[in-house]
Amino acid sequence: EQRLSGRVRGIAPSATMSIDAKTKALMKEGQPVVNMSVGEPDFDTPKAAAFAGIKAIVDGQTRYTPAAGTLELRKRIAQKLMTENGLQYTPEQIVVSSGAKHSLFNIFLAICDPGDEVILPAPYWVSYPEQIRLSGAEPVIVSCNEDTGFKMTPEQLKAAITPRTKAVMLNSPSNPTGAVYTKDELKALGEVLVQYDVYVVTDEIYERLVYNVEHYSLPALVPDLMNRTIVVNGFSKAFAMTGWRLGYLAGPQDVVKAVSSLQSHATGNPASISQAAGIVALDSFDPGMVEAFHERRDYLVSALQNMNGIQCLVPDGAFYVFPNISGLYGKSLNGKRIETSNDFCTLLLETDLVAAVPGEAFGAPENMRLSYATSMEQIKTAVERIERFISRLE
Ligand code: PLP
Repeated sequence: EQRLSGRVRGIAPSATMSIDAKTKALMKEGQPVVNMSVGEPDFDTPKAAAFAGIKAIVDGQTRYTPAAGTLELRKRIAQKLMTENGLQYTPEQIVVSSGAKHSLFNIFLAICDPGDEVILPAPYWVSYPEQIRLSGAEPVIVSCNEDTGFKMTPEQLKAAITPRTKAVMLNSPSNPTGAVYTKDELKALGEVLVQYDVYVVTDEIYERLVYNVEHYSLPALVPDLMNRTIVVNGFSKAFAMTGWRLGYLAGPQDVVKAVSSLQSHATGNPASISQAAGIVALDSFDPGMVEAFHERRDYLVSALQNMNGIQCLVPDGAFYVFPNISGLYGKSLNGKRIETSNDFCTLLLETDLVAAVPGEAFGAPENMRLSYATSMEQIKTAVERIERFISRLE
């Protein structure tokens, strides 16, 4: 007899877990690890938002709110979607949740049945395939590599659609690649999508973190998709609010109603305090954060591009670089042979104390993810160490 459900037994053990555990153990020992594996900004929540949270506590905004979030916050989000993204939604078409991760999970549970397929371009964010499987659906992976800038082409999309396709997942700017779809690329995908009766889930949580390019939201470019697109966004990345747990979705009325009802039974409202802070956060974006990320990206990418055996595209957004390290597979250090990204990252951490996330975690075994959400000083140290590491491979 099984003690655990088939549902949770099916969750794949995280490909990042052993590296993560090793990184933490080394840091606890006091080893000077440069941690390039983190997925959160190294900036503080804007003070105005933080004080709004404190004020909410002191003023007694500490009770249940409507399950979908306060009307005040949903109104402010509707305004944001209109002015910043060109998307017209009423507050009734918005559900606020405990993080964008929660919004995404709600979506898959609300639209997928066992037997459904969800098209998922790889490299993908680690939680998408697991969330899709937990909903009973099957992720259909479309592999994209450097040749297309890690982006799915209209041809690839079309070839992946079957009668069982329920939804297509898009994430631009992307975690882990930093790829940002251009206006024309999105329109071309939209031209395919309008021909089929499938949902589009577009995760735009990194929209503010773009460098010399512009972010576009698909349904603003292809309004015919409005009725079957669900837009996901959140406060974690743009406002450095990872710990506040606040995200949201906007979509067609029937889906939003179902999500709202689901959430009312599963978790209820996201924290009232976070919601109060979120309203103020939307007016408190710090462009200095983007400037800092931009400068770090330029430094890190050009350093990686100069390293033997490494190929690195210039990511247009988010705060990750995703170099291809497969040119170093087959090489060894101290008798240990590197065959996979996991081998590479494990050895790099053990011998030179730089923590990176192996590409296997994202369905991209030839690459590794380095986060530059850490100080320039740390990034420079990491570059020196990676160079030293590579120079010793034989
Ligand atoms: N989507 C992507 C692509 C992410 O990288 C993350 C966080 O790492 C999330 C969603 C979830 O963010 P949160 O749940 O903190 O809002």
